[in-house]
Amino acid sequence: MADVLCVLYDDPVGGYPTSYARDALPRIERYHDGQTAPSPERIDFTPGELLGSVSGELGLRRFLEERGHRLIVTSDKDGPDSVFERELPEADIVISQPFWPAYLTAERIARAPRLKLAVTAGIGSDHVDLQAAIDRGITVAEVTYSNSISVSEHVVMLILSLVRNYIPSYQRVIAGGWHIADCVSRAYDLEGMQVGTVGAGRIGSAVLRRLKPFEVGLHYTDRHRVPALEQDLDVTYHPDAESLVRVCDVVTINTPLHPETEHLFDDELIGKMKRGAYLVNTARGKICDRDAVVRALENGQLAGYAGDVWFPQPAPLDHPWRTMPHHGMTPHTSGTTLSAQARYAAGVREILECWFDGRPIREEYLIVDGGKLAGAGAHSYSAGDATRGSDEAARFRAG
Ligand code: NDP
Repeated sequence: MADVLCVLYDDPVGGYPTSYARDALPRIERYHDGQTAPSPERIDFTPGELLGSVSGELGLRRFLEERGHRLIVTSDKDGPDSVFERELPEADIVISQPFWPAYLTAERIARAPRLKLAVTAGIGSDHVDLQAAIDRGITVAEVTYSNSISVSEHVVMLILSLVRNYIPSYQRVIAGGWHIADCVSRAYDLEGMQVGTVGAGRIGSAVLRRLKPFEVGLHYTDRHRVPALEQDLDVTYHPDAESLVRVCDVVTINTPLHPETEHLFDDELIGKMKRGAYLVNTARGKICDRDAVVRALENGQLAGYAGDVWFPQPAPLDHPWRTMPHHGMTPHTSGTTLSAQARYAAGVREILECWFDGRPIREEYLIVDGGKLAGAGAHSYSAGDATRGSDEAARFRAG
């Protein structure tokens, strides 16, 4: 019998939904590169339901309890008195997600002697100290591709929102105004601009494919060159982020957070961008230096910044990105649409079925296994820790 400790975000303020805006989801069986969508033996939820919050339980309770396991689901994840910290010493498996991350720091891992598997319901396992997981022989797995397209759609939306000054114009209407000149004095067309992605994996390449019809110049940099992308979409390769940002009007960040990318966008790199460039970051908040972004928006080096990722999460009430000028920030939502939830809940179920049945977890889902980076993790991450400072998240509830 295993103790499965699952951390999810809170239910809606008005209570768990009893009905939904739409009746069904489109059925996605395969992704662009041919990888199949999650394929557990069974699911015990209706796709389209809210699965990612506490009462949704990722649709796992029946499956786990039928097999004799204990499932604890909580949103109380920060601080020494949290349910997460109290349950951790008994946990064999932790399931968490990036939207409301239960940071698995080295200290917490040390307090979890039974922990063998950490599953990320979604993509991005930087909330786990991967070095500590490697050292302890803990398997880390995520549901690769489950929400990559969700995020790529969001990136396109954010780019257009910033360039066309959508959010302030919308706010004018809500406020009862009709101030066209105020709305358009920061509005441009995307057509003809140079748009680049730092990271051209599943999300970055999907953003490029989606932007192609907008008649823009496309650019990318990545640890591995992707000739097919260059041929198919006429994308210009850059050997590093610096070379890319020098020529781009819009930059989108689509790499994992790991020691190589932590604070990549600091004063120096942002200073090399074109004046008035737009920066869209749906990858991880810590890839940008928090205060460098604020400074660049205030002095006009950046014309806009948008995204849904912060550090830590939830962002304290006094986090300067809540109030900086020309931003289009939301809570971490882009990868947790109802459509995405159905896929990553099914993916978590698939990973657990494999784990309990002693079958191998798909290679593409593995980040750490057997004491080293493995599968997708070996391709896209570097070893080390990116969780430092995450205890700040406790300040959200305290505030
Ligand atoms: P992929 O692994 O498919 O793509 C990541 C790409 O980043 C890879 O091509 C990788 O290169 C590249 N990369 C890694 N390090 C560097 C570096 N130092 N410089 C340049 N490129 C680098 O992942 P996805 O595209 O699916 O997701 C990317 C990230 O987006 C996730 O790790 C997560 O942090 C974030 N995300 C955010 C979500 C949200 O809701 N906001 C939801 C889902 C993901 P290579 O593999 O060639 O080495």
